[in-house]
Amino acid sequence: MNAYVEKVINEVKAKNSFEPEFLQAVSEVLTSLEPVIAKHPEFEEHKILERMVEPDRIVSFRVTWRDDKGQVQVNRGYRAQFNSSIGPYKGGLRFHPSVNQSIIKFLGFEQCFKNSLTGLPIGGGKGGSDFDPKGKSDREVMAFCQSFMTELYKYIGKDEDVPAGDIGVGGREIGYLYGQYKRITGLYEGVLTGKGLTYGGSLARTEATGYGLLYLVEEMLKCNGHDIKGKTVAVSGSGNVAIYAIQKAQQLGAKAVTCSDSTGWVYDPEGIDVALLKEVKEVKRARLTEYAAARPSAEYHEKKNGEHGVWNYKVDVALPCATQNELDLDDAKALVANGVTAVAEGANMPTTLDATEYLQKNGVLFVPGKASNAGGVATSALEMSQNSERLSWTFEEVDAKLKNIMVNIFHNLDNAAKEYGMEGNYVAGANIAGFLKVAEAMMAQGWV
Ligand code: NDP
Repeated sequence: MNAYVEKVINEVKAKNSFEPEFLQAVSEVLTSLEPVIAKHPEFEEHKILERMVEPDRIVSFRVTWRDDKGQVQVNRGYRAQFNSSIGPYKGGLRFHPSVNQSIIKFLGFEQCFKNSLTGLPIGGGKGGSDFDPKGKSDREVMAFCQSFMTELYKYIGKDEDVPAGDIGVGGREIGYLYGQYKRITGLYEGVLTGKGLTYGGSLARTEATGYGLLYLVEEMLKCNGHDIKGKTVAVSGSGNVAIYAIQKAQQLGAKAVTCSDSTGWVYDPEGIDVALLKEVKEVKRARLTEYAAARPSAEYHEKKNGEHGVWNYKVDVALPCATQNELDLDDAKALVANGVTAVAEGANMPTTLDATEYLQKNGVLFVPGKASNAGGVATSALEMSQNSERLSWTFEEVDAKLKNIMVNIFHNLDNAAKEYGMEGNYVAGANIAGFLKVAEAMMAQGWV
């Protein structure tokens, strides 16, 4: 291993030994940057890697709120502002019981490269809380969001840091957060993205991550001599990313046959019924058992031992769209044994490192989330542009820009991989292309 890369990884391990997800992300990215570091000794001289792995700042705060029984509840909130060299901090808020500083830091670190890859002027950040919106009433969610924003507003702003949604933070939560920000500051500004259409949201933002994923997969398949049309697709998750990935796959002539949630998965060989899935997940906020009950062609399987299930079917394309580390080595082996052609990450870091390596060694086209799921944040940046202009673009305008951005991302990472002698290694290509822009901006701005 390159001595400088090794030194920085060891320092990060020593300083952050209790942050496994952050260490995983840093090791993965820095290892793939070795050829760039070897070619650019100036990055070591200016301590670019040391500066990139250290967030500009992290705020961690108490969030106190009252539940429907009148009990006082206490959660922990975070915002990690990682790097603002190429634009204001930008990245989602995650509300999930698993949220801790390691997860927020891994997501914030990855976000810097993803945002850079979009070609748009947005820096990297991430935030969230260990609050679980599941099973809470609207009033409880509102009370939590208002308390969360009462602290967070001090650190964000339309030109400073613009959070968005992520797991557990959808339109409802963004609305409550925005309302509280406006109440406290008196400002009607684009401080959050993923807003509702009546108060500054962008058309196509809801669809953007899933649609963008498919635009990139379509381009990658095309450049490798395949056609998305007629392909069978396995998808995990049944949230925002998964639903619109399934919808766009079907619009492009592919057939998505699986989806999942945290308790089970569905196999529907006739193809997932997107309207029914939306009804179950977006309207009723119910379990997938309800999908299977209403759809005779579907099988429902309960997760008994934490298994992932959806990767055991014969498919051409696999799209993990739920959460981190949900596609492991055994899953990768099953996919390869079933002849999979491509795996593209809709979620952030859903594939474990050994699974990624196994897929790549076996000739599977593999795209990391920082490239393939960048459509969400790219469209958030388009929402920021519309807010600054005080104009709203049509769905078709936003969708066309999104498609163009995703096609460009694929070619950027493909070209970067080729330039550094790693043709077809899209993980390295994404890290290199994302890194170079941020590193060059940091060099230009001096030791800050
Ligand atoms: P949602 O909350 O809408 O959906 C998440 C889905 O994943 C649900 O089906 C959920 O099931 C499942 N899930 C969550 N945690 C677990 C777990 N520990 N084990 C198994 N299943 C789980 O989130 P999104 O669709 O917005 O996000 C999905 C992923 O995509 C995340 O990694 C997110 O960071 C990433 N992403 C999202 C973007 C966006 O624009 N939304 C942009 C870029 C990346 P259940 O309902 O049972 O919890």
